[in-house]
Amino acid sequence: MSPGGCTAGVLVLFISLLTASRPCHGSQSEKTWLRQSNPSIDLFYLQPDRVFVDEISEQLHIAKRDFSQRLHLETHSLVSVFVCPTQAIFDSLTQHSVPHWGAGVAQVRRNIIIIKSPGLSKNRDRLSKLIRHEMAHISCGQLNPLLLQAPKWLIEGLAIYLSTDEAFAGKALSQAFIGNSVIPLDEIDDLLSFGGAKAQLAYEESYAFVSYLIERFGFDEVIGLIHDLDGETEFSLILANRFGVDIFDLEMDWYEQAKKTYRWHFLQDFSTYLWILILLLFMIAFGFIRLRNRKTLKRWEEEERFTP
Ligand SMILES: [Zn+2]
Repeated sequence: MSPGGCTAGVLVLFISLLTASRPCHGSQSEKTWLRQSNPSIDLFYLQPDRVFVDEISEQLHIAKRDFSQRLHLETHSLVSVFVCPTQAIFDSLTQHSVPHWGAGVAQVRRNIIIIKSPGLSKNRDRLSKLIRHEMAHISCGQLNPLLLQAPKWLIEGLAIYLSTDEAFAGKALSQAFIGNSVIPLDEIDDLLSFGGAKAQLAYEESYAFVSYLIERFGFDEVIGLIHDLDGETEFSLILANRFGVDIFDLEMDWYEQAKKTYRWHFLQDFSTYLWILILLLFMIAFGFIRLRNRKTLKRWEEEERFTP
């Protein structure tokens, strides 16, 4: 899951998804799930979202094809996608497991994606990123059904990396380094209990750490961590076996590097604020000069009037 992203663990049966969530109002046609079906994706939606269906379908297929190639997926299971036009339907389908900041969820064991429709999220600009994020989870889950045994920082960091989502480029992480509030990686497992701002930071950290691992060891080696999940071996041991380095040493090394990289990221926004400040100063100076000129003219008029 991500803010405007996905989680795993929505243990709902496919049939119950189709029947459990009916809006409490509107005509019968608005209550009936419609279906756009093809060999790789089953897309379910309600009448109000018909206008978004072609775009959603196209983005789903692009993401699925892209990740299948990048991850060398050999399985091509059918993915069921539900587009929710109301918060009540979304909450019902996800069994209230998604925090308010979540816009979608991927149930990786069942190849199911549930997303808020652009009409509900009011954020159509992020639709393609949301779809890529959720499909990245599904694709990683197809690599190894034991994906959920990996730490959240790996699951979410990979989804952001694969979806190339610039919304997690590091603004919150920059502020966290300034405020000394960076979240230890193992605490990110509690992501679903975080508020929106802390969740944003957790996603940015996950992305930053996975990017660091990919830069240091290579993409295929990091994906190898998923292949190595066997349901028995502790993840810290899996990581140490693959990379030859302890997770704590890696986290320390990443922290020191990231501090240098991200600490001053907030200055990127500062340049915008600086232009606004310059414009404001210019307007204040312009107003001051006009006022001063007006006073000067008035004084001259009074001097002329009293000149004999
Ligand atoms: Zn996610």
